[in-house]
Amino acid sequence: MKKRNVDLVCDIAELISLADAGRDRRELLRKVVTSVAGHMQADVCSIYIYDEEEQQLTLRATQGLDQSAIGQVTLRLGEGITGRAIRELRPICVGSASTSASYKFFPGIHEEDYEAFLAVPILRGLRRIGALVVQAREANYFTSNDVKALRAIAAQLATMIENVQLLSEAREEAASAATAAAPKKTITDGIIRGRSASTGTARGQAYTLDSVSADSCALPDPNAEPHTAEDFERAVEKTAEQIEQLQRQTSEELADVAVLIFSAHLLILEDQQFTGRIANLIRTGTEGVKAIATVVHEYVEIFSKSKMPLIREKVLDVKDLGNRLTRNLLNEEASECDYRGQIIIAHELLPSDILKLSAENVEGFIVSSGVTSHNAIISRSLGIPMVAVSREQADGIPDGEEMLMDAEQGIIYLRPSREVHAKYEELDSAWKMLHNAADMKKKTRTRCGARVGIHANINLLSDLKLAREFKAEGVGLYRSEFPFIVRNDFPTEEEQYVIYKKLVDEMKGKPVTFRTLDIGGDKMLSYYSNVNEANPFLGMRAIRFSLRNKDIFSQQLRAFLRAGADADTRIMFPLISSVDDFCAARDIVHECMNGLDAEGVEYNPETKLGAMMELPSAVEVVDELAAEADFLSIGSNDLIQYMLAVDRTNEMVSNLYLAHHPAILRAIHRIVTAGLTHGKDVSICGDLSADSRMLPFLLGIGLRKFSIDIVNAPTVQRLVNSVDLKEAEEIAGIMLDFGRVSEVEAFLLDRNLAPDVEA
Ligand code: PEP
Ligand code: MG
Repeated sequence: MKKRNVDLVCDIAELISLADAGRDRRELLRKVVTSVAGHMQADVCSIYIYDEEEQQLTLRATQGLDQSAIGQVTLRLGEGITGRAIRELRPICVGSASTSASYKFFPGIHEEDYEAFLAVPILRGLRRIGALVVQAREANYFTSNDVKALRAIAAQLATMIENVQLLSEAREEAASAATAAAPKKTITDGIIRGRSASTGTARGQAYTLDSVSADSCALPDPNAEPHTAEDFERAVEKTAEQIEQLQRQTSEELADVAVLIFSAHLLILEDQQFTGRIANLIRTGTEGVKAIATVVHEYVEIFSKSKMPLIREKVLDVKDLGNRLTRNLLNEEASECDYRGQIIIAHELLPSDILKLSAENVEGFIVSSGVTSHNAIISRSLGIPMVAVSREQADGIPDGEEMLMDAEQGIIYLRPSREVHAKYEELDSAWKMLHNAADMKKKTRTRCGARVGIHANINLLSDLKLAREFKAEGVGLYRSEFPFIVRNDFPTEEEQYVIYKKLVDEMKGKPVTFRTLDIGGDKMLSYYSNVNEANPFLGMRAIRFSLRNKDIFSQQLRAFLRAGADADTRIMFPLISSVDDFCAARDIVHECMNGLDAEGVEYNPETKLGAMMELPSAVEVVDELAAEADFLSIGSNDLIQYMLAVDRTNEMVSNLYLAHHPAILRAIHRIVTAGLTHGKDVSICGDLSADSRMLPFLLGIGLRKFSIDIVNAPTVQRLVNSVDLKEAEEIAGIMLDFGRVSEVEAFLLDRNLAPDVEA
């Protein structure tokens, strides 16, 4: 039967007039979903209502899904296709939901039977009211007309829903549920909702790293022979061997960041106050496991109270050591001494902890103290899924609990069913298909044949393997801060040189762009904490730190220059705010070159120098900057953050972090135009560079170089292949004329009406 969209809009108007006459709203929503499903010949129609306070959507009516899901299925802003539609305030039409990166699987409601998915936000102005969703078994079922019809209905529904008690009813329900279950229920139906920090799926048992204490350690069988001090000595020896082995292995695999990473473990192990005291406790009758836990606990107390961040950072090392000693004392198999098959729950983690635990084969991380951008970046580079949850949620997960963690959506399933496991196996294979390095062609061209460069963002040297596999044409951004962050002191010029040289060598003649140290903000060095800033993001960050600390800056520049000898290397400065900043940094590079000349040391005298475009002030003087610099690189993550004054890590304002804001479009256009006018190379290296919706615009304004998280390369290449530059230029021209966010959104929406494209 043919879809009858016009009739549908009329019928809904009639229903809404009934609502105004004071009918029961639930009944009304039920009628709306039935009517929409019938008219559109959709297998499913559902309405979700948004709760502003909880920032959460709840299923309130459905035709086609299991009725028991009403009131039970909830989605956070950005979660799943529906959550994305409501976060981004635009319809999303997906032809084949099971292969969509945003698809969110709910066990038990049989949503997986439906391929075509169309979610339209219900809005009052920019206020989120809810979402209207239709689904169909047949892939690519919904057309551009369906999108238009559903938008018209959503517009009508908005007034009705907003007017009345549905929202307050939802709140009342939530409030009574909360009082009934004190303390606040944080885990509903075995599902925890957190925030994604590093994507991927992890499976394993919960292991709370913070839990090493005399009370929480499992005590051995009381009938077994008690452990002797000699047994403990053997456990110490075994532990030392394991750690030395780990140190050797990580030094090979993560040469840039793993130097002596386990040194604190070894030092503590040799400390007689530590191991000697445990042995003494055992000699005087304390059970071995209890003795270890007691001393570990004492050390944790002392370390965590230290005023020195460097000492406080050792807390996790002592706990980790306690775990190893206990397992070795209990003679558990060597393989069980690492974190294979386990998802670690910790209040706080440092980048160095993440490295260590990764070397010990951890499957995933759940953290409860917020995630710094460096922790997120390093976990992503190491391929370890990470989800941030609240302290309450973390405390609610029992140790040993079987879990499946969907770090893409930030969802943790406790004791997942076979059905959940099977679904995630399918989703993982779909993800792999979309990110298959074998699909990459060496060169990327638009449909009309223009060359576009796809380069890699590199955080750790271990990322280079993927960069080669995905045929990166060069390194467009090397974030140089990790070797600084994981050490106890600034790395020497020589230490840095070894790392940078390896990077250049492994790229085998391809261009490499080094970024100078970008610390500050939420990326702090524990050994450099003589500043306590009220507004660190507006403080001693990036190039400001380098210009203030000339010795440290010069050592890094000399190491970059030397590593670039006989290679195609460039250096760029982060957070440039003025031409003066750039010239001051450039002067120091020239001083370093003069110094190297005088010493007769080889370096790359052709090293090009660039400014990162991340601040509104830099955009205002971009012409002058383009005249001075050899190249410009758009750091879109910071550019958006600073232009819109939206903290990119603050979920409360995440809906305001809009890459498509007209101010951002115009700023990027100005940067590219200035670069082209002055004959200077311009590239983009923030997350926007892999944003499929914005790619035609970026190509249309003349950008030809993209530096991305290289696993996204197949998707970006496919998209570039489909773009015709003439069309892209027209699109860019239209988008640059818009003065309102809503106009850009409506335009992007209209362009993306074709099913199978996530608008
Ligand atoms: C950016 O800001 O876009 C960028 C690439 O730098 P960061 O390392 O701060 O993400
Ligand atoms: Mg930046």
